[in-house]
Amino acid sequence: MKLKHLLPVVAMAATSAFAQSLGTGIDKANMNLSVKPGNDFFQYAGGGWMAANPLDGEHSRYGMFNKLDDINQQRLRDIITGVPASASKGTLEQKIGGLYRLAMDSVRLNTEGAKPILPIISNIKGTTNKTELFVLTSNLNRLGVPGMISAYCGADEKNAKMNIVQVGQPRLTLGQRDFYLEQDEAMVKIREAYVQYISDLFQLVGETKEVADKKASDILALETRMAEKNYSAVQMRNPEANYHKMSYAQFLTEYPGIDWSTYFLTMGYPAFNEIVVGQPEPIQEVGKILTDTPLETLQAYAEFKVINDASSCLSDEFRAKRFDFFSHTLQGAQQDKPRWKRAVSTVDDVLGEAVGKIYVEKYFPESSKTRMKELVNNLAIALGERIDAQTWMSEETKKQAHDKLSTFYVKIGYPDKWTDYSALNIDENKSFYENMMAAAAWGYADMIEKHANKPVDRDEWGMTPQTINAYYNPTTNEICFPAGILQPPFFNPDADDAANYGAIGVVIGHEMTHGFDDQGSQYDKDGNLNNWWTEADGENFKKRTSQLAEYFNGLEALPGLKCNGQLTLGENMADHGGLNVAYQAFHNALKTNPLKTVDGFTPDQRFFLSYGLIWANNCTEQSMRQLTKSDPHSLGKWRVNGALPHINAWYNAFNIKKGSKLYLAPKKRVDVW
Ligand SMILES: [Zn+2]
Repeated sequence: MKLKHLLPVVAMAATSAFAQSLGTGIDKANMNLSVKPGNDFFQYAGGGWMAANPLDGEHSRYGMFNKLDDINQQRLRDIITGVPASASKGTLEQKIGGLYRLAMDSVRLNTEGAKPILPIISNIKGTTNKTELFVLTSNLNRLGVPGMISAYCGADEKNAKMNIVQVGQPRLTLGQRDFYLEQDEAMVKIREAYVQYISDLFQLVGETKEVADKKASDILALETRMAEKNYSAVQMRNPEANYHKMSYAQFLTEYPGIDWSTYFLTMGYPAFNEIVVGQPEPIQEVGKILTDTPLETLQAYAEFKVINDASSCLSDEFRAKRFDFFSHTLQGAQQDKPRWKRAVSTVDDVLGEAVGKIYVEKYFPESSKTRMKELVNNLAIALGERIDAQTWMSEETKKQAHDKLSTFYVKIGYPDKWTDYSALNIDENKSFYENMMAAAAWGYADMIEKHANKPVDRDEWGMTPQTINAYYNPTTNEICFPAGILQPPFFNPDADDAANYGAIGVVIGHEMTHGFDDQGSQYDKDGNLNNWWTEADGENFKKRTSQLAEYFNGLEALPGLKCNGQLTLGENMADHGGLNVAYQAFHNALKTNPLKTVDGFTPDQRFFLSYGLIWANNCTEQSMRQLTKSDPHSLGKWRVNGALPHINAWYNAFNIKKGSKLYLAPKKRVDVW
């Protein structure tokens, strides 16, 4: 699924409990009243909170989302450790408890050391030709070890009722291609640390420093070759440029150098006739790489992928190396998360809906679902009004937009049918890593079983209920709000409309607007990539959206590091539309339920303060750099200080005039949705 999330999907964790929730009034302690709202609204709305919640060593970013995640982590731990230890084999309780115990057993993990992966490494080294190695790595891929080929089965973007097999460009260990190709000092340093990390891992499985260093530099060169052909994060955002459907026979001819039939057979795919290629050039390059590269280098790469993949499931030495590179060097965290949090995340990743089912029974009242349905409905009415009010769009296109809006598929809280985990075994006689491989194999088989040669099931969920996030999926035209985000400070049944519309209201508006952002607008009401705009309206829309991209291109994430307006365009549009639509819905609600000024703040001011506060966060420089390079969401600061200057109502609410730092002349303000 190509989901558009509210925020990046990353593991989040911390310790202290949630201190305050939004009520009817304003907690001035969260604000920084020494700053003028028109100069820095991010500080004005959340400066007090940020000062009171500095980064601890464990976090590279800590904001409102993390604070809520603290509560979630503890709740999940209670659920997981609450299952009876005596649960009989094969029950969900045994799977949940067993996996947690395996992840927590530091004595066993440290005794086993590298042992769980040594037979795999030895098998890779034992291959005598590329054909043997390819069969082996294909099977490792089935067991969750990433390789050069990345395939899955999901909705066909031009026939969205059906699933289809799809292949994409190779996934790079460092994420974006920039990390391999850019020559600025920060990137060069990251690559030096990366080569050291690879060498360290090889030494932990018994290689000499000399051999380990050689393998590390070969691997960087190999991945750099992939990076050179890979699409950038911006290119990946263009749906048409990433869709190439063909017959399987044609695919075999056009993508030589890879034994595709062995690959798909090994992965467990049934026979199929058609395939979608995401990024042609990078995949063709993989064929060439497999042909040109010496066996020894391909083996080293395969070994590294195994060790890297296993590094959180082995002894502390491995985990320490992993933390040091990925969390410390890349993100600036100072200390690793405690083992229990990592164990909770593992269970959450593998058995998410099993713990999620218990989670919603305990923590998600049915009344929240009812209230959310009303809010979603109010937001949909407001978005419809906003569509009608646009002066740059023809009646013809407006009708299409209304059709799309009226067919949104809304998901709230938790799924109606739950994932069946009966074919997944957790066996405590085996190592933690072997169990994680079995879980990955189960996950892949389950994905194929549900999708291959089958119609799309619109009732499948793209997130677990406990996830603190939300999404829009263009191919099913669905918006989803898991139970996890339906709690304070986002959603509070006891708070007034100003607080709720400014927080969860904007979240709902954000996901709805994704259906009409620069990407979502290319999909029709049935989820097909299909242009429903008149030519003139499409041009107008593009003009307006590129104004927003240019504006964000002008902002700086760090001294010398510009924000990427093209990469973040869809999310910035969703924030922009989300604010406008939620504000309109809020004013519709005020007609029947007027609010008074409280604590010196008008209802409109409280709406914007509520919005500003949800993005309050502290972030390391390393993390800001990594996010700016790879995250389609703007940094929290710019989701506030970059989004609000385009909202007319915000100027009125705080009486912001020319001369304020965030002030934009009316004709410079973007006006879409
Ligand atoms: Zn989004």
